[in-house]
Amino acid sequence: MMGVNRRDFLRIAGLTAAIGMGGKTAFDLLWPGQLDAAEGGVEGWWKSKTPENPLFPGDMAPGNEVPNPAELTAKRWGMALDMRKFTAATRAAVVKACNQVHNVPAIPGNQNIKWIWETSFEHAFPDLAQEYMDNEVHDLPFLVLCNHCDNPPCVRVCPTKATFRRADGIVMMDMHRCIGCRFCMAACPFGSRSFNFADPRKFFPDGKEPNPTYPTRTKGVVEKCTFCTERLAKGELPACVEVSGGAMLFGDMADSGSPVRQALRTRYAIRRKNELGTAPQVYYLI
Ligand code: SF4
Ligand code: SF4
Repeated sequence: MMGVNRRDFLRIAGLTAAIGMGGKTAFDLLWPGQLDAAEGGVEGWWKSKTPENPLFPGDMAPGNEVPNPAELTAKRWGMALDMRKFTAATRAAVVKACNQVHNVPAIPGNQNIKWIWETSFEHAFPDLAQEYMDNEVHDLPFLVLCNHCDNPPCVRVCPTKATFRRADGIVMMDMHRCIGCRFCMAACPFGSRSFNFADPRKFFPDGKEPNPTYPTRTKGVVEKCTFCTERLAKGELPACVEVSGGAMLFGDMADSGSPVRQALRTRYAIRRKNELGTAPQVYYLI
């Protein structure tokens, strides 16, 4: 995968200092066109990122998106997980689908990469757990993922805008701009982001990525759930929703008739760590 890695970033920063780019900072130079101007077009890494060759599907920089009439669009995407409908088999199918579609490697030990995974009620909702609660809820394994928060601290702290919030609320990663500083991981109170400490390409079964149409990542970048922007762009629902047998709902939070809004009208729902004010857009119907 091409991109601005740590080495490139430091080189650009050094170049800025060395040649005095008319007041431009190293971060300015990471925007389209700026690097070419700095180096006389020698590198041209960003030039290869075009609507025809987005390099990382669905992550085109704001204002540079590819219009597609089949694309599923919303003012504000959101998700709901119906805890009454999940079985062990459903949870396993959901995790497997996401991992396969996005080439999420299975790295043993504590360096594993997680886009959607199972956890306990206490871990998912530490503020709501109490000793007298109904065992039926307390003992359920919960699937957790990026909450695509309305007020995402991860976006605010990223020095290169590698993580950004799209107009439809999806919090995205641009792997080409990630310098691996991990500020976003420190800022996310949900542990929704994973860092590639190792080369993820070495951890595919049989040494081959399961989905050759989705880009693999490199050592040194952060990744997470993307609400399947690459599938929405083709008119498809997120992979997890598709295999969940109705246990996961996805829709426009601004549309009162959307599946998520309808469910939220009739069922009691909780969100993770509400008190922190990040305004998660993943809801759990219990
Ligand atoms: S869950 Fe974490 S990574 Fe996802 S948008 Fe919220 S703060 Fe950012
Ligand atoms: S929305 Fe897509 S990326 Fe996110 S957990 Fe579901 S399948 Fe994975």
